[in-house]
Amino acid sequence: MWGCRYYFTKLWRVHVIILTSIYISFSYSNFIYDFYHSKTKKEKRIERSAEFSKEGDRVEAGAVELYREESYRQYFSRTLENWGMAEFMDLEAQDGVRMAWNVLPGTKQEANNCVVPVSAIYTPIKPFPTIPVLPYAPLRCRTCRSILNPFSIVDFAAKIWICPFCFQRNHFPPHYASITDDNLPAELFPQYTTIEYESPGDKSSSVPPVFMFVVDTCIIEEEMSFLKSALSQAIDLLPDNSLVGLITFGSLVHVHELGFGHIPKSYVFKGSKDVSKDQLLEQLNFFLKKPKPSAGVIAGVRDGLSSETIARFLLPASDCEFALNSVLEELQKDPWPVQPDQRATRCTGTALSIAATLLGACVPGSGARIMAFVGGPSTEGPAAIVSKNLSEPIRSHKDLDKDSAPYYHKAVKFYDALSKQLVHQGHVLDLFACALDQVGVAELKVAVEKTGGLVVLAESFGHSVFKDSLRRVFHSGDSDLGLSSNGIFEINCSKDIKVQGIIGPCASLEKKGPLCSDTVVGQGSTSAWKMCGLDKATSLCLIFEIVKKDIPDATAQSTSNQFYFQFLTYYQHNSGQMRLRVTTLSRRWVAGPGSIQASSVFLFSLIDLVDTYLCLGCVHGRKRKSERESLGITARVLGFESKLQTVHGIVLRHDNLDLIAGFDQEAAVVVMARLVSFKMEIEAEFDPIRWLDKALIHVCSRFGDFQKDSPSSFSLSPRFSIFPQFIFNLRRSQFVQVFNNSPDETAYFRMILNRENVTNSIVMIQPSLISYSFHSGPEPALLDVAAIAADRILLLDSYFTVVIFHGATIAQWRKAGYHHQPEHQAFAQLLRAPRDDADAIIKERFPVPRLVICDQHGSQARFLLAKLNPSATYNSDARVPGGDIIFTDDVSFEVFLDHLQRLAVQ
Ligand SMILES: [Zn+2]
Repeated sequence: MWGCRYYFTKLWRVHVIILTSIYISFSYSNFIYDFYHSKTKKEKRIERSAEFSKEGDRVEAGAVELYREESYRQYFSRTLENWGMAEFMDLEAQDGVRMAWNVLPGTKQEANNCVVPVSAIYTPIKPFPTIPVLPYAPLRCRTCRSILNPFSIVDFAAKIWICPFCFQRNHFPPHYASITDDNLPAELFPQYTTIEYESPGDKSSSVPPVFMFVVDTCIIEEEMSFLKSALSQAIDLLPDNSLVGLITFGSLVHVHELGFGHIPKSYVFKGSKDVSKDQLLEQLNFFLKKPKPSAGVIAGVRDGLSSETIARFLLPASDCEFALNSVLEELQKDPWPVQPDQRATRCTGTALSIAATLLGACVPGSGARIMAFVGGPSTEGPAAIVSKNLSEPIRSHKDLDKDSAPYYHKAVKFYDALSKQLVHQGHVLDLFACALDQVGVAELKVAVEKTGGLVVLAESFGHSVFKDSLRRVFHSGDSDLGLSSNGIFEINCSKDIKVQGIIGPCASLEKKGPLCSDTVVGQGSTSAWKMCGLDKATSLCLIFEIVKKDIPDATAQSTSNQFYFQFLTYYQHNSGQMRLRVTTLSRRWVAGPGSIQASSVFLFSLIDLVDTYLCLGCVHGRKRKSERESLGITARVLGFESKLQTVHGIVLRHDNLDLIAGFDQEAAVVVMARLVSFKMEIEAEFDPIRWLDKALIHVCSRFGDFQKDSPSSFSLSPRFSIFPQFIFNLRRSQFVQVFNNSPDETAYFRMILNRENVTNSIVMIQPSLISYSFHSGPEPALLDVAAIAADRILLLDSYFTVVIFHGATIAQWRKAGYHHQPEHQAFAQLLRAPRDDADAIIKERFPVPRLVICDQHGSQARFLLAKLNPSATYNSDARVPGGDIIFTDDVSFEVFLDHLQRLAVQ
């Protein structure tokens, strides 16, 4: 109906750009954005949050002065605490959570109008250096089972606490008898909204970590030697107490008996046929010494197997290092002959299925990991992704779109069944896919994602993306991945809100209840999820639904405008002990149209708005802080309504102010990225560009300020001002423009997006660009082709790839070797700076990104150009002197904004 696709795609070529005031404020805010998000300016961000808290103190002081009543003071202190001065990063630093809306739309209708769903990105086991770990069991509400938390109301005299979720009155048990106002247990401290419990008894049940290596042998000798050396390094790094097993596969599957003295011994299975559990145990001679139990499930030492039998295939790393290394040394390329017009016979699916069944029999319920090293496509057995005939290409996005990929659905179905088996057993599947061609990541995705496995995609087993990533998996110390296992994630919330589902690495436990929405997104219809594998970066995206129908009246509001949720994560900490992490959050419902509440949140929205108006008047409005403050405070004291309306004569929508103040545009775009990827995968005929454009136009007409039909009057609060740019870049990203990549690559990018936190996901959506030159220190540059200059070095971080790009002059000097000459020390330093910064990025990231070092006009420069805003293209007049042009028909950001403003004000 908007015809927006029309407007936003190819039909619109770049025209001469007229810089409107709104464009200036847009690009200004986007500069600010890059500025705070570039790594080298981290200190700036810290300064800024310090400023925020100073500001908070002032507001708090003013508020207390204005509202002396006890009730208000209580309300205020609580809100301020929760809000961390509306700085979303601070909230994340406390609880590991970012929400798109930090003030919730009050009704179902209002939530629908907000377009971006009420949602949260939560990092369940984000490390907090000061998190309290309580050595006792948590207290639970006897009705809803939620856990005692700082938001519970405590009656010290009667020794009773009231559950904020269901309002049940609960008696404290006798060992809480000494509780008083100033003798609180840690779980009631207001700052401990995130806390962990570790019961001392749990340690005995801990099982050592288990690693089952599943290794492809249908690879050329060179790759084989890369893989062998990477694996033997990995084995060196394994924790001594961990149990290790090895399966190799090609046309056949070999299960290696590592515990068989010094002579390598293996059991061989045909790759073309799936093997049942009984067949597997029978063939592996599991019942030679101890007869097979006549009934019941065979599951580990407790049920049916002797530990000696298990130890034939799973050995402590310290005992089997020699055996494992000698098997690896002897390991040959698959001997099955391959015709020149044929692909190798590779039975990936059968090998993984055997690995899963073996682990299911030996160590069910432990946090075992299958680590698959795959060097090519599966062509044999139930999960083949392509025929052996080389003349038949591997499926592309076009084939999947046209439903002409004959192997795809069968293979996905196979891996879906495998994922259910693994989730049931509590085991993880990690995938290391290293080949120039596709190997079937798209088909395997379901099994990796539902079990919370790691995935690494590289061109070769010799590439640093693979080698360094594998090393990181086993690395211990500060930069370890914090691999944990056996996770269960549960959620409680106040009534009037339901959970549609989670997009992220987890599997539904099908715990249905009143909390579950009928609309399902991702893993839904449940309030509990299994996370077989999780690590300190794993981040879930929860999508909620507001079910409250009517606008609450004033009396109802005073008691229930505060909203709570509680996230519970049980997991096996890498110390081996079971822990329970509890995060309890409070957010506020929006007050409702017309009603104005004096809350800190509101005052902030006011300051934001004042800020916007200053921006309109002057490009540097944001810098005029003192003016901004005085205006903000004046507005607060005098009654903002008349004040603001007279300042610029723009009609304000008061019901929007709270929502605007609570909008986290970074979290919002990350949620939209996960949603659009999810919809592209499951909805046939889904048009992602149209969906994103419609959403953005709705958001802008709902939350922008403008006079009807006047595009030049359009403005957005700073809370929203970068959102259009994010959506612009999301539309151009690998998540939406899938046809530039293979299905394997798309699956890979999406799996990483679906497990990362907001900050990292933003880099994937909108890469960061830093410029280095003699004229100034490293500074953030606009993600635009105009950033290219002959005398500059650019550092682009697009998450999966880090690019160092030398301008033409810099490249010339470097080729002439100036940096080796003592009089050109400064040049040597200039060359080194981006390398150091790139190294710092690479060191922290998993999977390790690919590093591209290139020169202007070189072929590798495409890695940079593809990510830049095409403000100058081959058919535009706006050439930048000394710069580059981009060969594209893509619309530039300026044109995009221009249309957006026009459509939003209609
Ligand atoms: Zn309760």
